[in-house]
Amino acid sequence: MAINWTEAQIEEVVASVIKNLKGEAPAEECKNWDSTQYCGRRLIGVYADMNDAIDAATAGYKAVRSMRLEEREKIIAAIRELCRTEAPIMAKLGVAETKMGRVAHKTAKHILVADKTPGTADIVAQVKTGDDGLTLTEMAPFGVVGSITPSTNPSETVICNSIGMIAAGNGVVFNPHPNAIATSNYAVDLVNRASKMAGGPAVLVASVVKPTLDTAQIMYKHANIRMLVCTGGPGVVKSVLSSGKKAIGAGAGNPPVIVDDTADIKKAAKDIIDGCSFDNNLPCIAEKEVFAFKNIADELISEMQKNGAYKINAEQAARLAQIVLVDAKNPKTGIVKKTVSRDCVGRDAAVLLAKIGVRVGEEIRCIICETDFEHPFVQHELMMPILPIVRVNDIDQAIDLAVKAEHGNRHTAHMHSKNIDHLTRFARAVETTIFVKNAPSYAGIGFGGEGHTTFTIAGPTGEGLTSARSFTRYRRCVLSDGFRII
Ligand code: NAD
Repeated sequence: MAINWTEAQIEEVVASVIKNLKGEAPAEECKNWDSTQYCGRRLIGVYADMNDAIDAATAGYKAVRSMRLEEREKIIAAIRELCRTEAPIMAKLGVAETKMGRVAHKTAKHILVADKTPGTADIVAQVKTGDDGLTLTEMAPFGVVGSITPSTNPSETVICNSIGMIAAGNGVVFNPHPNAIATSNYAVDLVNRASKMAGGPAVLVASVVKPTLDTAQIMYKHANIRMLVCTGGPGVVKSVLSSGKKAIGAGAGNPPVIVDDTADIKKAAKDIIDGCSFDNNLPCIAEKEVFAFKNIADELISEMQKNGAYKINAEQAARLAQIVLVDAKNPKTGIVKKTVSRDCVGRDAAVLLAKIGVRVGEEIRCIICETDFEHPFVQHELMMPILPIVRVNDIDQAIDLAVKAEHGNRHTAHMHSKNIDHLTRFARAVETTIFVKNAPSYAGIGFGGEGHTTFTIAGPTGEGLTSARSFTRYRRCVLSDGFRII
């Protein structure tokens, strides 16, 4: 499918997928779902006990290991096909369960996963020949991977990780976010149905009915789990990196955007609002705060308003901050810190505005406000369509503040500019895994930008945009004094 991910075309793709649905009940007709069943159909690969889930994933791993690459690719093709067909079901289920995000955008994210997650072609052996013979380096599976997934992309992450991990020859067991467990387990079931359809094992990947911190600990400690892959906020990344096992940590971001006075301001405004409002700002790569040159800030704001942004004043922003950020006490240290309200994360702009008494129509997809650098909207990763804009004097101040706002996550940053020196300076200073120039944030994960997609972007542990090869270990095989044929 040819994809040009403009807003209008996302809607078009979604409409066509819905039209082509084969045989599945649309999610709105199915109110009866939980972490074990969907409309009375029992989900495959979901166990009450984490130890049983790990046993099932271990059996899945053994089956994958004995398959030819061709057979693995057949299963992956079936996963892609089912993911495309059932994208709207998972999107609706995700929104219904988590109350976060937008169905059309979640549908588009699933199609992106189906189309642009690398399969077995990502696993490439290397050969070195010389006077002493031939050395072969192959990317081998780790074994069974334990994967922790977030509430923000619950089924997307399960399917994307499954494709990559299976392509690499691994088994996988999931401990999904408890607030998104029905959606994540639907995706586990989808992978297993695809496996069976393609002649693979009936249970290829596994999960649990009720994931908890305790089930995560069982996973961390189980002898069969050789690698942990964790996608989420700072707490879980820290915990997985303390596990003593090989771990990939894909952590939080707070992506800043710089707009300088060489940018195409109309395009920058539209791109920023498109990216920031995509799935109500749930993607970790989405624009979270803007640093705009003061000589173009008024025009930028005005163009944003023409593209579905609603501007609130300082007093309204202060009231909204009281609502979207709440006090949370650390049970261990007793220290109270501001944290995002789970009742506000991923909600529509209209819903958030209604909380401060402002009524708007569906055309409003993002809230903007002018703030100073210290404002909590700049400092916190809100994951909701609220975008603070800070005026800056010049590129030095823009880079200084943007780097500080990114908080050293080294995750994602964006810039709208035609000045190569500015672009280069910011990219060097911010050191993020993803740097998007003159496009909406989602171009960074292959949505209207070149390159593969992933929903596990591993900054802390350095794999970057993970793919099948990230879930492998290198093994060397040496043949001395032979097989050099020149
Ligand atoms: P979260 O941190 O609340 O939860 C993520 C997962 O970790 C969940 O499955 C949760 O149950 C589990 N978890 C939390 N603490 C744990 C612990 N101590 N031990 C074991 N498991 C634990 O995240 P969320 O709200 O679902 O997702 C949003 C966060 O994830 C944001 O910070 C976002 O930036 C980040 N994120 C990062 C990426 C990436 O690729 N880098 C992708 C998506 C989301």
